[in-house]
Amino acid sequence: MSLQGKAMKTRSFFVGELEKGAASVLITGDELKHLRGVLRLREGEAVTIFNGRGLVVKGVIQRIVKQAATVSVLGEDTESRESSVHVVLLQALVKGDKNDFIVQKAVELGATGIVFYAAKRTVPLLGPGRGTDRLIRWRRIAIEAAKQCGRSVIPGISLADGIEEAVAGHACPRMFKAGKGFLKIMLLESETTRTIKDMLRTAPAAKAAALLIGPEGGFTDEDVVHAAKNGFTPVSLGRRILRAETAAIAALTIVQYELDGMD
Ligand code: SAM
Repeated sequence: MSLQGKAMKTRSFFVGELEKGAASVLITGDELKHLRGVLRLREGEAVTIFNGRGLVVKGVIQRIVKQAATVSVLGEDTESRESSVHVVLLQALVKGDKNDFIVQKAVELGATGIVFYAAKRTVPLLGPGRGTDRLIRWRRIAIEAAKQCGRSVIPGISLADGIEEAVAGHACPRMFKAGKGFLKIMLLESETTRTIKDMLRTAPAAKAAALLIGPEGGFTDEDVVHAAKNGFTPVSLGRRILRAETAAIAALTIVQYELDGMD
């Protein structure tokens, strides 16, 4: 579709409770604060509502009161911006707020799942019980990123105990059971023979992939053995050593370009 043909993008709001066939939807909480306080939208204005599970509807604001904005639903928006490829990012926790950055970029690049794990060489990051508030924060970042890029699906984000749990697929069992046509790719900085291009070119019809990225300190030899035991193939992203967050973005982009086409 030419840029001129792109419909004016109406403001998008996340309502997890939205179900197919709803005649009206209530916007409450943070989304209402944004609608009223930041965007200062008024009754009669057009909006888009998505439930983060693939359903998007167009609507018009009927009423705005203190606790909620009522939106009457005009119809479903069937234009999907989802990738045709299911990609799960298995990402070693990295320092500081770079994990937030990885969540945001993984959503924009169409990931359908993000599993963080504490690798052996991960600098201890999350104190006891900190995992929950990080997951809540990452979920918020994922919702904002999905709104910004126009996705209808918000990827599931989870925390695996260690690389063992991450590569075993406990966080996304359905996908790991996909079997045929499901690529398990370990991005290994020390790999010198097979490139990611070699691997993707051998499976052009693949429609699901797991991408395993290591921590700042890199993978240990036992990580490589363990990942191989779980069906992961080590591949290189080239001769330069990338930061973990750069490797995540590069690998996601390459997989989308090769297997989905990004068209
Ligand atoms: N400490 C490692 C070293 O100096 O060799 C670097 C680790 S790198 C910062 C973090 C992760 O990014 C790696 O574990 C790997 O998953 C990925 N990565 C970085 N550069 C890569 C490359 N050229 N090929 C494949 N993966 C790469």
